[in-house]
Amino acid sequence: MKCDVCMVFLEDLKHILWECTFAIQVWRKILDWWGFQQRQIFQCLNDTWVAINWFKVLDLNQVWEIVLIATMWTLWLSRNNRIFSGSKVNVGETVKLIKLRSQEWALARNLILEDAVIWWESNPIGVITRSQAVLEEKLLKCDYELICFSDGAWKEGNRGTFRSGIGGVIKSREGSTKLYFSGPSAATSAFEAEFRAFEELMLLVKKVYGKDLSIMCYTDCLNLVHTLKTVKE
Ligand SMILES: [Zn+2]
Repeated sequence: MKCDVCMVFLEDLKHILWECTFAIQVWRKILDWWGFQQRQIFQCLNDTWVAINWFKVLDLNQVWEIVLIATMWTLWLSRNNRIFSGSKVNVGETVKLIKLRSQEWALARNLILEDAVIWWESNPIGVITRSQAVLEEKLLKCDYELICFSDGAWKEGNRGTFRSGIGGVIKSREGSTKLYFSGPSAATSAFEAEFRAFEELMLLVKKVYGKDLSIMCYTDCLNLVHTLKTVKE
């Protein structure tokens, strides 16, 4: 079957989502909306995995992923509407729908906040940054007595040598620094360095503050979070 928009190419999923003139116009507007250098990313969109992980910041990636999926989903629905209900192609309306849909999905997952969404149509990254700042502030104000951060660093050198260090900070609920530590470590992998840092942090908390204390811990190592979850279970 030929594509009902361009009437030129065969209609397959790749054509509907990425290659048809209609899809390309919609994607251009979406990329514009997110302030992308278009030439840079447009080739990557075909490789969905690269596109989804475009940002170095997790919060941005999570919302961007939603926008990618909302765009594909909306392009697919608009194709069905054309074919089964005879509705007309409209780039502006489609983009509007994608913005609305992705906003609702991001709200539902608590990635953006209701009081920040007034800028969603013009500045999505601003909305995400603002929402995350508010969410972090809320975390800092919640019921934990201490808030702890740990971090491990590990680097491979020449001929199988490596350098490793660990560090951490203990803050009060109000956010003022109580204690911190840093030093070398004998860790033999990046994960081990993260683990040692966390272990050191826990020992320090126990030594200084005793046992019965509610604490909130932060790490940038997802692997560590998974491991600790498994241990707990
Ligand atoms: Zn087409």
